[in-house]
This record gives sequence, structure tokens and C-alpha cells, in this order.
Amino acid sequence: MKLTDLTLTTPYLDLDPIFYDKVSPTPLHRPKFISLNPSGAELLGLKPDLLKPDEVNGLLNGTLILKGSIPYAMCYAGHQFGHYVPRLGDGRAINLGKSNGWNLQLKGSGQTLYSRQGDGRAVLRSSIREYLIAEAMHALGIPTTRSFALIGSEERVARERWEKGAIVLRLSPSWIRFGSFEYFYHTHRHRELKSLADFLLAESYPHLQNSPESYVEMFREIVSRTAELIALWQSVGFNHGVMNTDNMSAAGLTIDYGPYAFMDTFESGYICNHTDTYGRYSYDSQPGIGLWNLQCLALALSPLIPKEKLESALELYAPIYSSKLQELLRAKLGLDDEHHGDGELYRELFKMLEGGYVDMTPFFRTLSRYDGERSSLLAQSLSTETMNRWLDRYDARLELNTSSTPKRHTRMLCTNPKYVLKNYILQESIELAEQGDYTLVNNLLHIAQNPYDEHERFERYARATPSEHKNIRLSCSS
Ligand code: AMP
Ligand code: MG
Repeated sequence: MKLTDLTLTTPYLDLDPIFYDKVSPTPLHRPKFISLNPSGAELLGLKPDLLKPDEVNGLLNGTLILKGSIPYAMCYAGHQFGHYVPRLGDGRAINLGKSNGWNLQLKGSGQTLYSRQGDGRAVLRSSIREYLIAEAMHALGIPTTRSFALIGSEERVARERWEKGAIVLRLSPSWIRFGSFEYFYHTHRHRELKSLADFLLAESYPHLQNSPESYVEMFREIVSRTAELIALWQSVGFNHGVMNTDNMSAAGLTIDYGPYAFMDTFESGYICNHTDTYGRYSYDSQPGIGLWNLQCLALALSPLIPKEKLESALELYAPIYSSKLQELLRAKLGLDDEHHGDGELYRELFKMLEGGYVDMTPFFRTLSRYDGERSSLLAQSLSTETMNRWLDRYDARLELNTSSTPKRHTRMLCTNPKYVLKNYILQESIELAEQGDYTLVNNLLHIAQNPYDEHERFERYARATPSEHKNIRLSCSS
């Protein structure tokens, strides 16, 4: 299908007008095509080869209007760094409508009713980061929004310095946030709260729609999806950085990528967001914050679900999280099944990584070919003694495995990525893009989508992060 044949629907606009602001995108001056994600196009049933850069520019810049599209921004609230903000909303995102189960949303496309003091824009730097990471997360098997395309422009946007404006077209099965419910709860609009719950059921939990206790079952599933999502983040060393309730998806996806990071050297208290002085959203706080956010959602849903049922659903969080994490760690270590003492093996593993300043991505990748020969692993640690001790334990544990070593290697190589998009790698592509060279952005898209493959020209990105590039902390400015 060609882009001009695509027809959108706008089911969200069937809700009461308080839910949205109908607003058209404000085009950027002289839009420049940067990248189209062929997989994103395919999600909408489009043939990537038939998409012309000019059309992509037009779609992202709001000048090519698809059939059925009625642009709108969504209203929500949220807890930002623990403090309730009564109204946020899409201040720089504009939804175009829905096709094939995907909601198309522009980010950086100008002001809306919810822009507060903001300019409605997004800068090239943060747009590249968002565009690439969504595809990287998807390829790692982590629920996420997806990317369709990215455009830039010469239009200047004021941040700490002048930067260039850009627009990403993001795709999501749902843009309903925990904060969407909070808005209606805290404004005492219980009728609208119920409409939103029904909307979310239809959009993301249709299998529960006819159940006698559909709201509580949906909440249980939100708890479970969130717990599993965060276990997935932890397993790859992903730090989201801004887990405010408005950035938490009620469909259990990773959304709204800002100053996120994949860790370099493993550090349990790692904080990627430089504005997060006290580490509220540090790597090891993420599981606890996931629960805190769910408690805010539970309160918001309390007019619809009895308190005891909300509480018992919240109790599911910790066991689901830890069983998912154990399952993921078992796979990362190539263990066939669960055995007594595995918890201790995992705890010691992370202590060993942290104590030896080990970069977790190359470590797990090297371990995926481990056959008793330790030198390539030991070379990655500043404390060979602790790594040797852990490997002794691992050797003993592998004795309990029934599958062969080659089989274990094959499985681990499909579980432990060779490439994750570390900050310094993204930074290289951003600096080139700021000079007008988008080749690396497009190369990184390919690497992001194939993280378990060998990419010979980019071998250096698979190694431990060079020390001068380690643990870059980014601000929220975007
Ligand atoms: P974020 O932390 O990026 O998820 O943004 C938090 C809130 O601020 C959301 O309501 C955004 O829409 C809004 N926001 C962030 N940046 C801008 C901007 N440049 N213009 C308008 N609204 C913004
Ligand atoms: Mg946000």
C-alpha cells in the first residue's frame, strides 16, 4: 500500500472532549528527511519501497494529511519525581489517528493546549535517541512503542544552547498512561474515569472486556505487564531515567524515552538522568518505583475497583517481577532449568560485575561462548579473583545442565545481545547528524534491529565502553 492510500480512524475522539485538544501540527521550516524505518512502515501495511522521502516529510511535518486523520493531543496528569502535577498532557505530541492497531503520534510538532511554558518542539539529539531506542528495545524483546520515521530541519529551538528542531513519528498500540487515569480521579470525574477504563479495555485488554470483573482483571494484568517489563529492563542494564507516572504506559510498554541509558560498567545505583539528584529513578530503584507508580494507578482506579481487590493485585507485583527476572537470568546464563541456590548465583554475579567494574553487555556476550577457557572473561574485570570465584560456582552449576555446550552457546548468543545502544554510540551519531550526515543514524537503526548479529564494521561498539565515554549522564532537556 502507498502512503496516500492509508486511512486512519480516531476512536479516542469518541470520548468526551475533555479527553483531548483537537490541534493541527505546526510545520517545521524546510523539513529534511533523515530516516524511514522499513519495519515501522510495514506495521502500517505500507510498502517501504513505495514511500517517497517527500511524502514522509509531509506526513511528519503535518502538511500531508492522511484520509480520516483528525489530529489531537491527549490530556493527562502525573506524578513527576514523586509530586503530583494536576495537568500535563501531550505538550509537544500530536496524534494523527490509528491504523492496523497502531496509533500514529508526532513528537515535536508544535504547541497544544497542554504545552504550558513549552515550545512544543523536540531537538534533533533527543529525537534521534528516541527513534533508535524504540527499535532497539523491540529487537531485544522488550515491549515498547515503535518508530516510523524521523525528520529534521534548520529551525532553531532554544535549549541550554540553540539546537535544531526535529520530529519523530512514533507508533503505539496505546498512548494511555497511568497519569491519564490520575487526571480524571483527582478532578473527581468518575464518569470519565469509567469511560477511560472501558477505552483501555477495548484498546489493550480486549480479552477481558466480557469478564464479570473486567476492571480488576485489567488492573491485575497491568501489574503483571509492568513487573515483567521492568524485569526485562533490569536484565539488559536499561535505565529509563524518568519513570514519572505520566511516562508509564497502561498497556505495559516502555514509552517516552528521554535521558535513558544502557549501563556501561555495571553499577547497581547507576543514575542516567543528571537532573535526578537523589537517584529516585536509578537502575536499582526501578523495580520499587514500578510498584510505587502502580499504587498511584490503584488509587486512581479506586472508584471502579474495591480497595481489597486493588491491594491483592498489587501484591502480585513482587513475585511476578522476581520470577520473571530469574527466568531471564537463567536464560542469560544458559541454564536449562531452575535449581536450588540459583538466587545466590545471580546475587554473586552482580556483586562480581560491580566489584570488578565489568561492562555487562560484553561480559554476557563473551560468556555466551564460555567453554572453561577464562582468559577473555578475566580480561574484562579489575578483580580477577572475584571473577574466578564466580566462574568456579558457574562451572559447578553448569554440571547440572543437561543440554550440550554448543547448544547452550547457540541459545545464549540469541539471548545476550552483542550490541546495545550505549550513550556514547548514540552521541557519535548525533554529532554527525548535527553536521548533516545521517549515515550513522541509519547504520545504528540496522544494528539496533539486529543486536544479536555480528556487524563487522562496527565491532568496536560491541566492546566495553572506552573509559573516557563511560557513564555519560544526560539532562531531561530535550
Ligand atoms: P517528558 O518528561 O518529556 O515526558 O515531558 C513531561 C511533560 O512536559 C509532558 O506533558 C510533555 O508534553 C511536556 N513537555 C516536555 N517538553 C515540552 C516542550 N518542549 N513543549 C511543550 N511541552 C513539553
Ligand atoms: Mg512524557
